[in-house]
Amino acid sequence: MAEYDFDLFVIGGGSGGVRAARISAGHGAKVGVAESFRYGGTCVIRGCVPKKLYVYASRFPQEFAAARGFGWDVGETPFSWSQLVTAKEREITRLEGLYQKGLENAGATVFADHARLVDGHTVELTKEGRTITAKRILIATGGTPNIDPKLDGREHVITSNEAFDLERLPKHIVIAGGGYIAVEFAGIFAGLGVETTLIYRRDKILRGFDEDMRDAVEKGYRDLGVRFVYNRTFKKIEKTSSGLIGHMDNGATLEAGQIMFAIGRSPNTANLGLDAAGVETGPGGEILVDAKSRTNVDSVFAVGDVTDRVQLTPVAIREGHAFADTEFGGKPWATDYDLIPTAVFSTPEIGTVGLPEHEARAKYAQLDVYKSYFRPMKAVMAGKDERTMMKLLVDGASDRVVGCHVAGHDAAEMVQSVAIAMRMGATKADFDRTMALHPSASEELVTMREKWVPPAQAAE
Ligand code: FAD
Repeated sequence: MAEYDFDLFVIGGGSGGVRAARISAGHGAKVGVAESFRYGGTCVIRGCVPKKLYVYASRFPQEFAAARGFGWDVGETPFSWSQLVTAKEREITRLEGLYQKGLENAGATVFADHARLVDGHTVELTKEGRTITAKRILIATGGTPNIDPKLDGREHVITSNEAFDLERLPKHIVIAGGGYIAVEFAGIFAGLGVETTLIYRRDKILRGFDEDMRDAVEKGYRDLGVRFVYNRTFKKIEKTSSGLIGHMDNGATLEAGQIMFAIGRSPNTANLGLDAAGVETGPGGEILVDAKSRTNVDSVFAVGDVTDRVQLTPVAIREGHAFADTEFGGKPWATDYDLIPTAVFSTPEIGTVGLPEHEARAKYAQLDVYKSYFRPMKAVMAGKDERTMMKLLVDGASDRVVGCHVAGHDAAEMVQSVAIAMRMGATKADFDRTMALHPSASEELVTMREKWVPPAQAAE
């Protein structure tokens, strides 16, 4: 009889866990997976996928308005939130099924249960109440949205977990937070016609992103009617007969039908038995791992958001894949975190890869900046005062492009391709040698010739 029930037991059927399980099974391992909520995890069920679908939905009003400039009379355009929620649910249920089928087809055994470590080789399925042993255990339990633990009335607020399935759209929503999830939801709700206010404890949204990108999104949002309340936090949320009142730290209040918190996410390690197995965690509760996703316990590994390295789906997937190849495929490799392209699906959208200008300036003695700020062709005909912003940052010494930032239509699509060139070490001269594709917005990326001079310097 085998020493263990499984070669690998994966806790969490999200991006990282599913990839690790599937690839390990493909390498011949006997694999079990437990998922306590829905296969597909955060990204598929209540993250990237439904978010992007809702972003699409939120942009139609602007498209309808633009259509008039091109001769279309689109007439009345009523919107049904419940139809959107139903259509979203249909799509994520389809994807959930594909994820589960993919595991089963690979030969993994799937469990719909919450799993908890008993020791380094044993997990307990809490619903079924039985224990399972495995030679290796992979923790891929993701993260959960934070709500200020000291917030009085915290039970009245929602997070991204609930926002996708609200029974009805509120007339007014207040979103607390300034990171990409808060900003994306603000764009979604504002686009769908909800009066939207963002309250943020700092003085500008999207901390860490390039300043020009932050400005571009803030301007776009102000044009859309989003209201910003900076340098404030909520102390108390009060429920009234007509909605909610948020009490801020300066004593002022904001009224809303819903108040959403998007102030960050924490590793999901609740009721996971980490102490029982002796698995070490860091100050934020994240599972501490090395480059090969090994914890301090030989048989226990962790990938994805629960390790709080980079909270992105493709990163969790890579980490899961590297783990599987390393432990079961005889092909050891580690995830490379350099030049990860990311997007903010705001309207305007941001796509970014490499360093923002403030970091590039600190790193490179001579930084050349190229900027293009223009009104896209479509906006001109639509009569919209809309701008696209593109920016390349170049290390003056090597001519290497070290940052590319785009705010505007299809920014994410453009930047994914630029990331390939940057990974290959593309120089500004390589960009310049590349023929433009005309007429497109992205041709600006290969036609920027003038170095940008800060206004103060230009005046000298
Ligand atoms: P998850 O996908 O969270 O999967 C963990 C799974 O484990 C969950 O299904 C959970 O139910 C299950 N689980 C937890 N504990 C247990 C247990 N004890 N037993 C059994 N099962 C358990 N990333 C991007 O790259 N692009 C985006 O545009 C993007 N948008 C996002 C938008 C939102 C609103 C949110 C919240 C996240 C977004 N992300 C995005 C981040 C992305 O979703 C995560 O980085 C990714 O899902 C992490 O994958 P994971 O495998 O670590 O965890």
